[in-house]
Amino acid sequence: MKITNKMGLPDGLVRASTSERHNASGTISATTLLHGVKQILLTDRHWEELEDDVSDRIWAIWGSAVHALLEHEGETEFTELSMSHDFQGIKVTGKIDNYDMGAGVISDYKTASIWKVKFKDFDDWYKQGMIYAWLLDKNNFKVQKCRFIAILKDHSKSKARFDSEYPQEPVYVYEFDVTQERLWEIEAFIEKRVKAYLETVSLGDDDIPECSPEERWEDPTKYAVMKQGRKSAVKLFDTREPAEEMVSELGHDKHYLEQRPGEAKKCQGYCICCEFCHFYQNHVKPDEASEVA
Ligand code: SF4
Repeated sequence: MKITNKMGLPDGLVRASTSERHNASGTISATTLLHGVKQILLTDRHWEELEDDVSDRIWAIWGSAVHALLEHEGETEFTELSMSHDFQGIKVTGKIDNYDMGAGVISDYKTASIWKVKFKDFDDWYKQGMIYAWLLDKNNFKVQKCRFIAILKDHSKSKARFDSEYPQEPVYVYEFDVTQERLWEIEAFIEKRVKAYLETVSLGDDDIPECSPEERWEDPTKYAVMKQGRKSAVKLFDTREPAEEMVSELGHDKHYLEQRPGEAKKCQGYCICCEFCHFYQNHVKPDEASEVA
């Protein structure tokens, strides 16, 4: 991967931007398993052609700096603990920020936006933590609990004072218990992801199915009942049928249906291999002619 420096930032920042592959050949990490298979394969295949700018990696650099500060081991604690398990032809790997063997607690440090906490958007952390717990379990280490310690980079003390729903401190802890049932569930998830990977690994780039709407961080498509001369919708629906019925009831002379496709936020700004993806090229990439106009 080529790291560019469009803002001419200091050399130290450029050197702190890693351009190494995240996954060695034949391995998939816990965090990679959370991505769509198309993203995993295209990133791997086109690694040498990919480009990223230092300015876009600034939070990753900051996150690495925080991790480096917290790399101190206690008596029963291990930090940056690498674990792996061979599973159905793939080596699943994970690097655990902190594992307290005595208490059976995994801790992972994150830098996050307050919106993650406000929306309780923890599914990716839950799965990541459970994959770590599964890896430890497969290597005969017991886990009782997973904790994610999030440093909220955009926290505002003044907003916290006036909004009880707002995270009250700039640090937030998301935690959950690890049970046998949850370990079975995550194994089923890993099995599904590994199977999807193996089924598509030999397909051509454009033949690999696009990532799912969930993996693309896509808002659902909405159906708006519109009235002529009015900018906002009379009513929004999640499905087409009731919206069509309402337009018929109100009369087609002044009312019409507007389909509002959901935006694929990951494809738009958070997928490094998007230029090699047929879905991005055909459905997401802004039309250059209309951009110029
Ligand atoms: S651009 Fe979107 S659909 Fe394509 S690989 Fe990236 S996340 Fe998946």
